Amino acid sequence: MKITLHGCRGSIAVSSKEFVKYGGYTSCYELRAGNTQIILDAGTGFRNVSLQKDLKKYILLSHLHHDHIQGLGFNHEIFNPSCNIGISSALYDPTELRRTIQTFFSGCYFPLNLTEKLKNLKFENFSTLVENNKDDILIESLEMNHPGRSFGYSVTHEHKKLVYLSDNEFKHWQLAELCDFCENSDIVLWDGMFIDKELIDKKGWGHSSIEQGLEFFNKINCKKMLITHHSPERTDYELDKINSELPDGIELAFDGMNIEI
Ligand SMILES: [Zn+2]
Ligand SMILES: [Zn+2]
Repeated sequence: MKITLHGCRGSIAVSSKEFVKYGGYTSCYELRAGNTQIILDAGTGFRNVSLQKDLKKYILLSHLHHDHIQGLGFNHEIFNPSCNIGISSALYDPTELRRTIQTFFSGCYFPLNLTEKLKNLKFENFSTLVENNKDDILIESLEMNHPGRSFGYSVTHEHKKLVYLSDNEFKHWQLAELCDFCENSDIVLWDGMFIDKELIDKKGWGHSSIEQGLEFFNKINCKKMLITHHSPERTDYELDKINSELPDGIELAFDGMNIEI
């Protein structure tokens, strides 16, 4: 499985010389497994995803907060009518997903009516998508703790497993189900928007801390954790300092990072 991280920033895209190293694009992660290309969330980082002609392509959305869908209308290849791509979420049935995305990308919010324009973007039922791919790729979902609801996903192919846990405000009651969900994983992507001392004022904002990620990593059987959904306030200088103090097996994610598992 090949993984490319296209957008590791949370909440809002950032751009200045202080955000060069870890990047400023919002949530978007690409996996290539067998003959399938899966894109987890379509934040502004989706602009840089190269959609592959010869692969089956799916966008899986955790939820529809702006930072997870804003790139949808900005990928050049998606405007090619022959570029067929499925879009799905465990959170909505296809009709509701289409309607909600249509609202965001039309009328007074967007210059085009995107869902009308992109006939090649097929809204799919999540359980049908899972069923249709089950011989090659196992896709599972788990509800996160997030205002407005959000789903995490795991993708397993040829005994390699990636788990995506964003956006999520970690609570102790989630521990058993999260441990179970991450069992025998190769990579876990963790929502580390905050640090512990910021969490005090950010209860109910829907995100976890980096320190909670470290603690969780010690409880699970997982080879590597990548902390992502970086706060838009956190500069390269600050992230570098945090990264240098992380224990083995845990790293901060950055835009453009490639990993093969
Ligand atoms: Zn987010
Ligand atoms: Zn969110």
